[in-house]
Amino acid sequence: MTERLTQYIPHENAMCAFGKQLINAICRLPSQQNVTLYLNGDLGAGKTTLSRGMIQALGYQGNVKSPTYTLVEEYKISGKNIYHFDEKIIYHFDLYRLADPEELEFMGIRDYFADNTICLIEWAEKGADLLSPPDLLVNIGYAENARNIELVAQSTMGQQIIQQLT
Ligand code: ADP
Ligand code: MG
Repeated sequence: MTERLTQYIPHENAMCAFGKQLINAICRLPSQQNVTLYLNGDLGAGKTTLSRGMIQALGYQGNVKSPTYTLVEEYKISGKNIYHFDEKIIYHFDLYRLADPEELEFMGIRDYFADNTICLIEWAEKGADLLSPPDLLVNIGYAENARNIELVAQSTMGQQIIQQLT
């Protein structure tokens, strides 16, 4: 089973293109279970850019805004005629401004990890242990305008996603 994948991302458009490949791999999984990705990397690494690439690949032409102040944004996606599900929801979290992990309790955080949801989480470490464990770590490192992405599987589903990409 494939545990790890590294990808060189020379510019921003390549980041969006990689997001498209990644969301397609996730949507092709036969499972209806929640899929959780932790997006790791310094400020400006490209976590939100990658998320935008993933969401826009599914037909969102509009603005995919950074959920820095709202903590989470919700995107409903239709799988009809393309995938083997009718609808899934992508939850894009940015926990950078989370003052206390208890806020997540008040949000009813567990409900976000239900079946047929995909959770993309920036600054997951701020959520302490209240978040679901990840299926995939997406580690983004940067070198000027280029980036290196490392995917590390943390579950069988994570391994299947990497396998789809290789
Ligand atoms: P983060 O969410 O990790 O803080 P953002 O995605 O908001 O980062 O910002 C990344 C910034 O880096 C954007 O301004 C984007 O235009 C720029 N950028 C430059 N090169 C790249 C690249 N190769 N991949 C992604 N973003 C890039
Ligand atoms: Mg961001």
